Amino acid sequence: MGRVFTILFTVIVFSNLYNAQEIQIFGELKPGSVVFVKGEEIQSVFLDDDSLTVDEGKYFVFGFDRDAEGSYLLKIKYNNGKVLLKKIDLPKRDYVIQKINNMKQSLVTAPEKENERVLAEREITKAARAKIGEVKEAMYKTGFVRPVKGGRISSIFGSQRILNGEPKSPHNGLDIAAPKGTPVYAMSDGIVRLSADLFYYAGNNIIIDHGQGLNSAYLHLSKKYVKEGDIVKKGEKIGEIGTTGRSTGPHLHWSVQWFNKRVDPAEILKVSFDKN
Ligand SMILES: [Zn+2]
Repeated sequence: MGRVFTILFTVIVFSNLYNAQEIQIFGELKPGSVVFVKGEEIQSVFLDDDSLTVDEGKYFVFGFDRDAEGSYLLKIKYNNGKVLLKKIDLPKRDYVIQKINNMKQSLVTAPEKENERVLAEREITKAARAKIGEVKEAMYKTGFVRPVKGGRISSIFGSQRILNGEPKSPHNGLDIAAPKGTPVYAMSDGIVRLSADLFYYAGNNIIIDHGQGLNSAYLHLSKKYVKEGDIVKKGEKIGEIGTTGRSTGPHLHWSVQWFNKRVDPAEILKVSFDKN
């Protein structure tokens, strides 16, 4: 009897120690996906050689680019010195081919006279994005909302695009078609890094920094209600759907990145931090 008790006691003590090492993973481990991790007493995290930011020893995020492949090693070091190693083998992911014909040729490739403008706009975006990663707080931990209520998904993430017969870079966002003026909401808490007017491709567009490298962009807007430096809440109205820039009709091009890794916005919507 005494021996059974001792064994039971040992198991409980061991599992209590082990509890500190448990992590909750939200999101799928696959290309074009963003993964959120919640734990306790975490001191540092590495994904291969990259050091990740941890908020309050509890929250961190990482993402895999559309074309990521192979294996990764996640290394979590706890305050008590213990280390958790998790090997991630990415599965293959196939993307659809999307052909769009009869597109205005000037929208497929910018005419030469617009080159300077396109380059200048790219520099503005790059400068705005340079601040991403500065926020160590996991502002996104309040969760996510779909930036448009209703609407029709008109183009999914990752599609290989062929515009007027010319192969173009893959579609890096999710398009939601809805009438002009439909409200657009911030997908999560964050800080506005860019609120730009009438870019050649992106039209009126907004970039929001959600902390730890996670960021979202909202393109082709007809109206914008935020400016750079504004702090926004999840579900806050930031603009309205339009068709400004390279766009064939009113829709939101919504994209999400972890630093410069392009991830699928549809994956974000599957994540709920409430489930336990
Ligand atoms: Zn799009």
